[in-house]
Amino acid sequence: MAAPEAWVHGGAWDIPIEERSAHAEGCRRAAEAAGRILAAGGTALAAVVAAVEFLEADGTFDAGDGAVLTSDGTIETDAGVMDGASLRLGAVAAVPACRHPVRIARRLLDEPELSILAGPGARRFAEKTDVWKEVLDVAGHPRERRRFRQLSATRKTVRIAFEGDPFPKGTVGAVARDARGNTAAAVSTGGTPMKPPGRVGDSPIVGCGFFADDALGAASCTGFGETILRVQLAKEACRSLVEGNAETVLASAFDDFVRRANGVGGVILLGTKGPGAVRWNTPTMAWGRWTPEGCVAECPATANR
Ligand code: ASP
Repeated sequence: MAAPEAWVHGGAWDIPIEERSAHAEGCRRAAEAAGRILAAGGTALAAVVAAVEFLEADGTFDAGDGAVLTSDGTIETDAGVMDGASLRLGAVAAVPACRHPVRIARRLLDEPELSILAGPGARRFAEKTDVWKEVLDVAGHPRERRRFRQLSATRKTVRIAFEGDPFPKGTVGAVARDARGNTAAAVSTGGTPMKPPGRVGDSPIVGCGFFADDALGAASCTGFGETILRVQLAKEACRSLVEGNAETVLASAFDDFVRRANGVGGVILLGTKGPGAVRWNTPTMAWGRWTPEGCVAECPATANR
């Protein structure tokens, strides 16, 4: 049986130098949160949800408390969770102002007749369940209010916002393998800055922003969602695990994404055996990894491809 392992990401993009240590530190602590659960014999599913909840509450990242704003100045969050053992999943899209969309997604995973809820319907579902009191509204991070004012003044659009936008952002995600060899994946985001209200990227779409299947492994993505959707990046990365170890197969699945879909972003991938891997082609990407031997986290200054 493979050793337990967890990876988290705090988003791709061009994170300014002065913000990189906060991104790396958030990822380290989130990976440790996942690791504590795995070390105590908990499930991969519980580990990925704990890591993403931590990152949603951190405020450093483009998720939960730190979510970017839409072109209307509102907040719409997306999240997804998948359990590789049962193939059950839950996802929410364009949920108005929500601190922990991943908790609603996790709650949906237990619903036999529901998988994905969008917009006010996702809030209504949460309000009727035990998760609502923990989800709470968010008003918009002061950093993101400032970013919104600047982007509105220069009339920048979603597309321009990732080309040289100087503000930090970063969708968050996690993958884990527990002591039983089960895998899970999760993701949470505020989306892209200045997105039109109602826009949904890759994050809440199974197989695109997140995927887990114990026959293969688990993946969680970040980046320009419209390109990730084109190749169903999370599923493709997991599918490639039949051909070799995570490091090798991710290199070729990621090349394919960049070449065929004009892809921009990053992925964490973990198979049912062996160490996981990370890959990105943006100027930087924050990530963390926990194994029983310890924890590492980085927000390096260069793309690794
Ligand atoms: N993938 C996210 C989206 O397109 C954004 C990100 O990862 O930063 O909504």
